[in-house]
Amino acid sequence: MERKLEALQEEALEKIASARDLAELEQLQVEFLGKNGKVTGVLRGMGRLDPEERPKVGKKANQVKEIIEKELEARLQILKADQEKQRLQEEAIDITLPGKPLQGGRIHPMQLIIEQLEDMFLRMGFSIEEGPDVETDYYNFEALNIPENHPARDMQDTFYVEGGLLLRTHTSPVQVRTMEKQTPPIRMITSGKCYRVDELDATHSPVFHQLEGLVIDRGITFSHLKGVLIAVTREIFGAGREVRFRPSYFPFTEPSAEVDVSCFKCQGQGCSLCSRTGWLEILGAGMVNPRVLEMSGIDAERFTGFAFGMGLDRMAMYKYEIEDIRHLWDNDLRFLKQF
Ligand SMILES: [Zn+2]
Repeated sequence: MERKLEALQEEALEKIASARDLAELEQLQVEFLGKNGKVTGVLRGMGRLDPEERPKVGKKANQVKEIIEKELEARLQILKADQEKQRLQEEAIDITLPGKPLQGGRIHPMQLIIEQLEDMFLRMGFSIEEGPDVETDYYNFEALNIPENHPARDMQDTFYVEGGLLLRTHTSPVQVRTMEKQTPPIRMITSGKCYRVDELDATHSPVFHQLEGLVIDRGITFSHLKGVLIAVTREIFGAGREVRFRPSYFPFTEPSAEVDVSCFKCQGQGCSLCSRTGWLEILGAGMVNPRVLEMSGIDAERFTGFAFGMGLDRMAMYKYEIEDIRHLWDNDLRFLKQF
């Protein structure tokens, strides 16, 4: 009987030592120590033994049971530790791997130009005004001294919509609306989309952006206009830019000028950006035509003013060296991510 117990112990220890997982270990527990287990079976059969032999065998059986229990427990701890180690290895995060970069948003180049100009004009005491994209004939043309037979009113140039309305062809209607609302001194800028019937190509778009400004006060002269425009060009294209005023004609200003800035890319030497001229044409300006002042209820005897307007698309194209105006509308992330 005792030898049988020893054999059982040996068998159990061997099996426990080679158990590979917790399930196997549990099976061994049942096999040896369970209700119908091998060691339990020996204890049950003790009734058939000689009375004097019983305590000896009983003691031995309990020893074997204890040893097996201890071994099971020890093996359990080892297997649990192994399992934990394996789990940690499987779930391990390699902190040396580079992270996934967050995709940050970018500001559209058109918005960059607008914000830069608005900041500068706000510092100079200008207010920012707004007006509708759909305008009346009066605000878009008539109040700006553009007579009925002016080429700008031609069907070729203007998008007309229902009800005698039109899509504004420039931001100048906002000047008229501001003059009607405010009394001088007026210092305002406005920017936004304008619309003209035009074929879409690398340098033309039927929708484009303008920023324009208006100053009206007593004693405003062309020198004030020059001062402001020189500040604008230096803000956008850097210090030291030369500015050139060429006489021009606009119905709403008199005298009128077109303004060029010396090419920032070639320093006026001539390059592809400036078509070898050394100059970039950036805006139109002039002293507000007294007739325009009078139509908006401002006394042209007491007040004078100047106005200027610039194409923001062209400004952005010059500043960021964008060759095709369509890039500004394509929403191609490869393009937009550069800003
Ligand atoms: Zn150039």
